[in-house]
Amino acid sequence: MTRPHRLLPAFFVALLASFAFADEARAFAYFATPTKWSPAGPGQFQQFIAAPPAGPHIPGVASYSFMAGGLTVADLATDPEHGLTPSLPLASLLAPLDKETAAQRELRVEAILSSALLTWANAVNVGAAINLTLQPVADSGARAGDAVQGGVGDIRIGAYRFIGALPPPSQPKMDFLAFAFQPGTLAFGSTLFGDVHFRCRLDKDPASATFCPEGVNWVDDPKAGAGSFDLFTVALHEFGHALGLGHSDQAGSIMADTYQGPQRALGADDIAGIRAIYQPIPEPSGLPLAIASLIGLASRRRRHSAPTNLARNVNMSQCKN
Ligand SMILES: [Zn+2]
Repeated sequence: MTRPHRLLPAFFVALLASFAFADEARAFAYFATPTKWSPAGPGQFQQFIAAPPAGPHIPGVASYSFMAGGLTVADLATDPEHGLTPSLPLASLLAPLDKETAAQRELRVEAILSSALLTWANAVNVGAAINLTLQPVADSGARAGDAVQGGVGDIRIGAYRFIGALPPPSQPKMDFLAFAFQPGTLAFGSTLFGDVHFRCRLDKDPASATFCPEGVNWVDDPKAGAGSFDLFTVALHEFGHALGLGHSDQAGSIMADTYQGPQRALGADDIAGIRAIYQPIPEPSGLPLAIASLIGLASRRRRHSAPTNLARNVNMSQCKN
C-alpha cells in the first residue's frame, strides 16, 4: 500500500517493547495476553484462563455472533471511541452485488467474517486434535457491552461509525479500520471482551440508513489496491486480537500494526502465536528437541509474565487507511 499508516498509540508500542524485543535472539515476535478463551463454567458466560505454559492445557472454546444494526453501546467508559451512534448492519460493510438481495448480502459478509475467524482455529486444530472450537450462535440484540450472561457470542462482531465520546467531545476517530477488545483485558461485567467492531463502509448520502461519511471503502478482493481495504484481511487481523494475540513486527505476519494490503493467510509468526495460546506444548522426544523446547518455554514465560495493566492492555487496534 502506498498510503501512509498511523502508528499505534504510545502505550501500545511501550507494551510491545517491554517484552517482545527483549535480550535474546528469537525466531518470533508475537505476544499474547496472559489469558485464553476456555469453556464456560456453570452459570458463566465468558471465562478466561491463563494461557499455556502458565495455565492448564485445556481446549479453547468461544462462541461468536453477528450484531444487527441499531445497537447502542452500554458502557462508554469501556468503549469510548465510538459510542455516540448505534451499530449499522454488518451487511452494509460491502456494497451489494448486482441483483443481490439483502439477505444474500448479509450471508456473504458473514461468510467472509466466519472464514477469517476459522482460519485461526484451523491453525491450531491439527490432525485429530481440537484445541480451539469457535461456535456461531444467534445474537440477542443486546447493547454492545451489556453485562448480559448469555444471548450473544463471546466474540461479537459489529459495524459502527467511529465517532468518539472521548474528549474533546465528539472528536471523530476517523483513522481506525476496526477495533478489537482482547479477552481478559477489561473488568468483568462487560461483554466487550473479544468483540470486534468494524468501521462502517463509506456512505455520503445523509438520507441513507447507512450514512457514514467517515467510512471505509471495504471490498472483498484479495488484490484490493490503494484506497480500498480487503475486509477479510482486516477481519483476520482483528480476530487475532480477539483470540489473544497482540501485534507482531515479523515479516509476513497478519498481526502487523498497520494495514499492509490484502493478506488472506496467516504468517509463521501468527501460527506460532496462536499455537502458543491454544495448543498444548508437545513433549520433547529427544535431547535436541528438549533443549529447543526449554528455550521456547523460557521465552514464552517472559512473554506471559509481563504485568497486566487492565486499562493499558485494552487493545484498540488502529490501522489507518
Ligand atoms: Zn491491531
